[in-house]
Amino acid sequence: MTAVPVELLADRLRRAGEVAASHGVDVVLITPGTDLRYLIGAEGATHERLTCLVLPAAGHLAPPALVVPALEAPGLAGLPLEHLGVEVLTWTDSEDPYLLVSDLAGGPTRMAVADTMPAAHVFGLRDTFPGVAQSLAGPVLRELRMRKDAAEVAQLRAAGAAIDRVHARMAEFLKAGRTEAQVGADITAAIVEEGHTGAAFVIVGSGPNGASPHHDVSDRVIETGDVVVVDIGGPLPSGYNSDCTRSYAVGAGPVAAVREAYAVLLDAQERAVRAVRPGVPAEDIDAAAREPLTAAGLGERFVHRTGHGIGLDVHEEPYIVGGNPLPLEPGMAFSVEPGVYVEGEWGARIEDIVVVTENGCERLNSRPRELVVL
Ligand code: ZN
Ligand code: ZN
Ligand code: ZN
Repeated sequence: MTAVPVELLADRLRRAGEVAASHGVDVVLITPGTDLRYLIGAEGATHERLTCLVLPAAGHLAPPALVVPALEAPGLAGLPLEHLGVEVLTWTDSEDPYLLVSDLAGGPTRMAVADTMPAAHVFGLRDTFPGVAQSLAGPVLRELRMRKDAAEVAQLRAAGAAIDRVHARMAEFLKAGRTEAQVGADITAAIVEEGHTGAAFVIVGSGPNGASPHHDVSDRVIETGDVVVVDIGGPLPSGYNSDCTRSYAVGAGPVAAVREAYAVLLDAQERAVRAVRPGVPAEDIDAAAREPLTAAGLGERFVHRTGHGIGLDVHEEPYIVGGNPLPLEPGMAFSVEPGVYVEGEWGARIEDIVVVTENGCERLNSRPRELVVL
């Protein structure tokens, strides 16, 4: 695990408290997950015993505190909790951890709970804090997590380079006569070899399977002439993720109809990337990708949003989707990944991660985007 400087974590805790106050929230409750990792440097593990960061909004006097099962306290060694001013309160199996939270939270009127908090804990808190309004902490945390600082961008850049190295080796793996699962197993190993801690997902969608955007792998044998969608990614030791899709033609160039549609897709992805700059609404990037495809009669074949934010989670805010008016800001990192899916026949997608800069964007993936014939 790559340690995040303690000053940075302290700053995040402070800013989270300020955003919470501006949202009218009195206390933010964060259970294990990427929000916890973002705030204190470790993700923790989710299960029936409550681990919870109790973060009072700015203006409340109590310092942040971490409620943790006594048997898991040794796992906190190495975290700079003392430097962060985070008090640690342990509880044993015969105690009620929600009462501990209640002691720490003062008398809140509104609490925000982590988006990924298990429902069992949400309801446990509800019983302990009757009448206290609960809302999601996502809108508070996203104010921080959406804008990546320089160190986070550096991690995403390294992740992009690592997954590019895997795509660069695709000719080793992707061959006619092999199954998608065999190819996927080799790609999974390469993802680790190139510096990730593991593969978060490996999609090898060959021929008709390429028309299913979130296909995984199957025992289908790849044939000469197949178009294959390869969408892969995973986290670096720092927790920051890669996510990159390239589409390949195996053994032979594609037929004319596929070639023509792919040329439009390539243009759509390029236009969307070129549209990225500060102040542009997220939905405009989606529209920029959709327009050329619609003009070519392929609008109906592009069945998903254009992109998603990426960081400690593979999918996070901001979402690049119609109806999202959020203005882009420097530091926002997200995918631009239009696709064309012809059911029963073939599919293709081109996906790069981009980071918004002061006057445009930086692409974090640089492998050729043309339909490479392997
Ligand atoms: Zn996806
Ligand atoms: Zn992807
Ligand atoms: Zn993606």
